[in-house]
Amino acid sequence: MNGNVEVVVIGGGYGGVTAANSLARRDGVSVTVVNPRPEFVERIRLHQRVTGSDDAIEGFGRVMGANVRLVVDTATRIDAAERQVSLAGGGTVSYDYLVYAVGSGATDPGVPGAAEFAYWVSDLERAERLRSALDAAPASAPVTVVGAGPTGLETSAELAEAGREVTLVCGDVLGPSLHARVRRPVARRLAKLGVTVLEGPGAQVTEVTSDAVQLGDGRELPSAVTIWTAGFRVPDLAARSGLRTDAAGRLVTDTTLTCVDDERIVAAGDAGVMPDHPFRMSCQAAVQLGPAAAATILRRIAGKTPAPVRMFFAGQCLSLGRNEGVTQFSYPNDKVNALSISGRTGAGVKEIACRFTLNKLVSGARKASSRASHGNSTDRPDSPQSEHRTTPSSTRPAA
Ligand SMILES: Cc1cc2nc3c(=O)[nH]c(=O)nc-3n(C[C@H](O)[C@H](O)[C@H](O)COP(=O)(O)OP(=O)(O)OC[C@H]3O[C@@H](n4cnc5c(N)ncnc54)[C@H](O)[C@@H]3O)c2cc1C
Repeated sequence: MNGNVEVVVIGGGYGGVTAANSLARRDGVSVTVVNPRPEFVERIRLHQRVTGSDDAIEGFGRVMGANVRLVVDTATRIDAAERQVSLAGGGTVSYDYLVYAVGSGATDPGVPGAAEFAYWVSDLERAERLRSALDAAPASAPVTVVGAGPTGLETSAELAEAGREVTLVCGDVLGPSLHARVRRPVARRLAKLGVTVLEGPGAQVTEVTSDAVQLGDGRELPSAVTIWTAGFRVPDLAARSGLRTDAAGRLVTDTTLTCVDDERIVAAGDAGVMPDHPFRMSCQAAVQLGPAAAATILRRIAGKTPAPVRMFFAGQCLSLGRNEGVTQFSYPNDKVNALSISGRTGAGVKEIACRFTLNKLVSGARKASSRASHGNSTDRPDSPQSEHRTTPSSTRPAA
């Protein structure tokens, strides 16, 4: 392919930003990121936003290369035949290659009353709504957290440490993704924080009302604020655009992250799935998948065959409040083992992991920006530093 190549990245989360920074390092490649808000959301800290121990926000100017154009808007449709993305603001952006990185978020679990009365911690807006609901409730009001996966565990502990009366309804077991031996220090920490843990087959929420939750075994628990953390779903943009998705709404790809319906569309992060090699929706995966998606596109641009993606997992880090945590180690294929670090050191490892992740984005941004400052870039006036809204034209770039 001769001339400048336009790559559009839909979604400025961990997957989208790492893909954009990797692509923006290459001469002859212009990168545009479409994201609904002008800041980067550190999703892995959203439970901290709820209690106020972190705002979970970073400027795109810090994490994304100065030569990446940011369009603050929401993609509403992908026209694969025309290679064009429609935006909620009314404009369109054209592309030669597209990175699909819309992430994941809350899903209506289909439990009566949940959509109406429950709160979520899955994205910035919902975390803010939850925070307002907690602020409006008395400190002694009962709070129910539904789901004992990593998000449910971290949210329960964070709120209990902040003085809330928390009941954690596990659905089945506490920490289903953890090794049985690693569940013990997690359970001990929750008990120390005063969290009431309900486990077993009856511990499933079957109905949510404004002031209670109903359990499968007939019990009713008073609940002033009910927080639903079980299950994430990917936005339906790909499905709405006629592209193949799985049951969770993820774009179906091959092992090079390429959409099975269109080789110019490549997925990164929670929003894609390789059906034969599914991976856990996680930040840990997203920061590997972003650069891998970029590599697939760069190889295609160079006329080479893309290589299958290789993933490496180290474990799961859980913060259980600000003072303690548990790190669950895993084999490189993400299968957990019995090794863990808990207590203050566990909390320290989690904090290091969060900072390391952010630093990875910052250093990717620096590398991309250094291409711009060496005069090789296709610099545009509307860089993320200016964080202003752009109105993209509907002209098609030269491929
Ligand atoms: C409270 C909490 C704690 C977590 N802790 C951990 C952890 O400790 N470790 C870990 O590995 N994972 C953790 N996760 C999961 C992790 O945050 C996600 O797996 C990760 O954010 C996925 O990255 P992503 O880039 O795919 O998506 P996201 O980070 O969700 O980014 C997607 C972006 O796309 C944007 N977008 C969506 N739709 C559109 C559209 N139509 N047009 C334009 N833009 C769009 C979104 O607004 C968002 O900015 C946690 C999640 C939560 C909620």
